Amino acid sequence: MSELSTVNEKGHMVFAGLDVVSLTKEFQTPLFVYNVEKIRKNAQAFVEGFKRLGIKAQVAYASKAFSSVAMLQVAKQEGLSLDVVSQGELYTAIKADFPMDKVHLHGNNKSRDELRMALEHKIGCIVIDNFHDIALLKELLVDADETMDVLIRVTPGIEAHTHDYILTGNEDSKFGFDLKNQAKQAYEEIKQIKGLRLKGLHCHIGSQIFETDGFIMAIKRLYEVLADWYKADGFQASVLNLGGGFGIRYTDEDEPLPLENYVGALVDEVTLEAHKYGLSLPEIWIEPGRAIVGDAAITLYEIGSKKEIPHVRNYVAIDGGMTDNIRPALYQAKYDAVIANKANHPKTYPCSIAGKCCESGDMLIYDTLLPEVEPGDILAVFSTGAYGYSMASHYNRFPKPAVVFVENNKATLVVKRETYVDVTQNDLSYE
Ligand SMILES: *Cc1c(COP(=O)(O)O)cnc(C)c1O
Repeated sequence: MSELSTVNEKGHMVFAGLDVVSLTKEFQTPLFVYNVEKIRKNAQAFVEGFKRLGIKAQVAYASKAFSSVAMLQVAKQEGLSLDVVSQGELYTAIKADFPMDKVHLHGNNKSRDELRMALEHKIGCIVIDNFHDIALLKELLVDADETMDVLIRVTPGIEAHTHDYILTGNEDSKFGFDLKNQAKQAYEEIKQIKGLRLKGLHCHIGSQIFETDGFIMAIKRLYEVLADWYKADGFQASVLNLGGGFGIRYTDEDEPLPLENYVGALVDEVTLEAHKYGLSLPEIWIEPGRAIVGDAAITLYEIGSKKEIPHVRNYVAIDGGMTDNIRPALYQAKYDAVIANKANHPKTYPCSIAGKCCESGDMLIYDTLLPEVEPGDILAVFSTGAYGYSMASHYNRFPKPAVVFVENNKATLVVKRETYVDVTQNDLSYE
């Protein structure tokens, strides 16, 4: 898994045109390094995919994957829209001067404050997730002339997994309205609220999806409902938001589709279904997170201790771990890694890579092969751009790492490394 990296004459790994060992000297470790050209390329694969097919679309970057001012500025430059799921993510969008009319608010428990902030800033769309959202919006919109575009989030009863999908009649999910009963009731309630303009439906069927079948099934389900509503009172969706979940390559076992292929499949199916029921073609919105940033970044660590247990396992420890990448501990996510300063050396040393947190489950990679490792070696882990930094924690009072963007062979610090002052800044004395 090193298609974005090469090796220079020193035998060092080169990422986005720069020697990563030099990057660790300049910015220390652990360090997130994003190849901004790759981010732009991923974004354009979606944007251009729709353009080429002549389809009106919004590609909304799901900012929970990695939100920072610089990242949102890049998203803005690429003409993306933006998903936020909290006030903090909305605040970041405001700080990045992101066009508010292209911001969409999600969340399964939006607070009154969050909704008020979204209304005040006139964001583009609120995705209604439950009856509590409707009640709060009704209250907040009561004596204003304000209007807000909304989508109804539904669970179409399809659970897409990496390589297959499951049809579940009644989806057991904390998100959205069930399609059988609740969606219609939500539709009726929303119609009664003067300020709400219902644009259509939203669904998000899963993450790290490598096939298009799940999306196609979901579109079929959504259209059964839309056809009913059209028959009942002529409602036509002007937007169909099909969520995110497009898979990326973490290890060589993953074989993602070219991003354009997802776009083609979605457009074909929506066109087919709209035609079948005599409905006009809606705008298609999607919400990729991982597929925009996931494979655009690496994390660099310094190797420290080793523990060799004959016939059992060799542990190699790094200066980070679940505090900067909780995915292996949270859902057995797999990663590939190399020793960046020994990029040419044969991989002869079987080992497992441990974090430095006080938690036995803090393991980054099990059973891999590295060159013979020594303290001070630099470990580079691939495809860490999504849900790494954004899920970082202060467990064990580790300061959060720095984030660097590289473009045109130039490295720019875009998130500062935290200090111990940062880590303790909210602590108050009690003596
Ligand atoms: C998490 C999420 C996304 C992004 O998922 P990815 O797998 O990162 O593409 C998009 N939409 C919604 C509603 C989500 O919850």
